[in-house]
Amino acid sequence: MAKYIGGDLGGTNVRAGIVDTETGEVSNLISVPTIGREGHDAVLHRMADLFLNVIKTSGLQVTDIGGIGIGAPGKIDSEKGHTVFLPNLYGNWENVPVTEMIKDYTGLPTYLLNDVRAITFGEWKFGAGRGVRSMAVVAIGTGIGGGMVINNQLHLGLDGMAGELGHTMIDFNGPLCGCGNHGCLEAYASSPAIAAAGLKAVVQGWTTKIGELAGYDLNKITAKTVSTAASMGDQVAIEIYEQVGFYLGIAISNTILTIAPERIVIGGGGVQAGDILLNPIRRTIKERVRMVDVEKITIVPAELGDNGGVIGNALWAYQRNEL
Ligand SMILES: [Zn+2]
Repeated sequence: MAKYIGGDLGGTNVRAGIVDTETGEVSNLISVPTIGREGHDAVLHRMADLFLNVIKTSGLQVTDIGGIGIGAPGKIDSEKGHTVFLPNLYGNWENVPVTEMIKDYTGLPTYLLNDVRAITFGEWKFGAGRGVRSMAVVAIGTGIGGGMVINNQLHLGLDGMAGELGHTMIDFNGPLCGCGNHGCLEAYASSPAIAAAGLKAVVQGWTTKIGELAGYDLNKITAKTVSTAASMGDQVAIEIYEQVGFYLGIAISNTILTIAPERIVIGGGGVQAGDILLNPIRRTIKERVRMVDVEKITIVPAELGDNGGVIGNALWAYQRNEL
């Protein structure tokens, strides 16, 4: 049994906890605000203090901990342990030597992964992907992230960037995406895209509960508002999820045809819509994938929730360090 720290660097909060690598159990989970506007040096010091604080509150010594795994949103270089481009984090994160700085400060070996690659690893080891040889994860949030396990290995690819399902294209001439390309899945099916579709329906005066649920304040319409309306049977909201599920289903069909996984795990805040989102994904895959036996593939929600990243990062650090 080994104890590792799993950390999650997010746009709003940094979270960390101690993970038992044998059971996946998380303890002493603590969250502090990121405050990205103070710059990356301040954020990294706050993170290092958080890690030491997690160890202190657990009653363990630094020497009882095997190492630290950190997940970051965006483009990172897992080999070097540098961030490359973090579009959802305030400030300039170009080539910041995250693992080096955290290691110097805490004395513990430190590893860096893209946040959704970490969720993928966690879900595969202890969540919705247990027991399969190959799987893909799609996480729907502010953006759309992804990750893949192929033949019992977290597949990282060049610089750790394999699995960017949110930036696979579903329309070559589609709208501009945050990455600079046009027609990426993320522009059609992320939480902001779902919220925007809900907003549009209200502004166009369609008969829908979305406006009422947001107290007729257009600024308050979120993906959660649309999913709540859909769960109440609101036809406009259900239609939005049918469309979003279709787009996701197309991108996932292409992934299935590329790696032929046994399981697809849908995570992130977007999965709160449940079968209202999963059913159109399943239907689209059945209609569009002919060359792989989709009857053998299960499409399921993630099981580890917010802890998926913490668990996956800790396990990744353990694997890199000891195995
Ligand atoms: Zn993109």
